[in-house]
Amino acid sequence: MSYPKLDIYLTKIEANAQKLKKELKAKKIKLTAVVKGLAGDVEIFKAYQKADIKSIADSRLKNIIKYRKAGYQGEILMLRIPMLSEIEKMIPYVDSVLVSEAKTASLISKFAVKQKKVIDLIIMVDLGDRREGILAKNLLALAAKIKSLSAVNLKGIGTNLGCFAGIIPDDENTKKLIALKKELENSLNFKLDILSAGNTATLKLIKEPELSSEITNLRIGEGILIGTDIINQDLLQDYNHYNFRLQAEIVELKAKPSSPEGEIAFGGQGRGQLIEDKGLRKRAILAVGKQDIDYQGLYPKQKGVQVLGASSDHLITDITDAELELEVGDILEFKLNYSAMLRAMTSQYITKNYIK
Ligand SMILES: *Cc1c(COP(=O)(O)O)cnc(C)c1O
Repeated sequence: MSYPKLDIYLTKIEANAQKLKKELKAKKIKLTAVVKGLAGDVEIFKAYQKADIKSIADSRLKNIIKYRKAGYQGEILMLRIPMLSEIEKMIPYVDSVLVSEAKTASLISKFAVKQKKVIDLIIMVDLGDRREGILAKNLLALAAKIKSLSAVNLKGIGTNLGCFAGIIPDDENTKKLIALKKELENSLNFKLDILSAGNTATLKLIKEPELSSEITNLRIGEGILIGTDIINQDLLQDYNHYNFRLQAEIVELKAKPSSPEGEIAFGGQGRGQLIEDKGLRKRAILAVGKQDIDYQGLYPKQKGVQVLGASSDHLITDITDAELELEVGDILEFKLNYSAMLRAMTSQYITKNYIK
């Protein structure tokens, strides 16, 4: 087995998917499993199929096409607002699309007509995170526009919080979304099927019947893959956590002064690494880097190992306080957060080791 290596615990991911699907079903909420973290990996995708997941979402058309070609026939939601340039190609592969622009909706309609298909549209509303979504005051106009188009079906509204500004989904913004849906239904005299209230960080809100009775859909990635909720800094109780583990090899191990020497670039700011003068420290360099992982999302398994930073191909750690004696050639293991996992899945330099 070559390093760096990513151990992927397939049965744990499958169990998470199964459990979540069941829990949401009990509350009449449809689970859309967000598989963008898989980077198109068909082996992991099979774990979702074993869990009988019949609705998935991905942000990359390339992955969506791969899953269809692998035989997946369930529902697919295009998770990222599509590029105008990919709409024509996208239509045959997806059932529904998140939108926030009239121009995009019109083009979807145009190509859906041509390809004799009907596409469901869910309007994204920006409730404060300032990533995708229309502002509430402009929602009705966009909804009316979509209603006037052919070959598209206005299926509902949704929101996404936490991902850009780090705004936490709470009672207030979720109630606002619920109210917006009702207003829209009244104005258009038309019932909307979908209230897609959010992502993993929204899960904690479904304990409140007042909210869960109105939410009809959640789009969950992180919660299934690693069992965590990074926005609320929480582990999902009774789920399997950290189902991806990185193994990387030490290529240099020396005692070095922890303080650098020489003039520091960028006006003395340096490169944003963790630099602290602790005197002479034992430093291990591992053969994995920024190209493969987000070093800020690596949690060393061995006690006393500290990640200091990384460059493209090197991970720099302080192992002075490590429990076990280490030497060049040894392997260190790390748990990965979502961001580190995403990059590890995308890196062609990391060997994927599927554990059943
Ligand atoms: C990534 C993404 C999700 C899933 O988020 P998790 O926090 O991984 O559950 C849901 N909705 C949208 C629009 C996304 O981009």
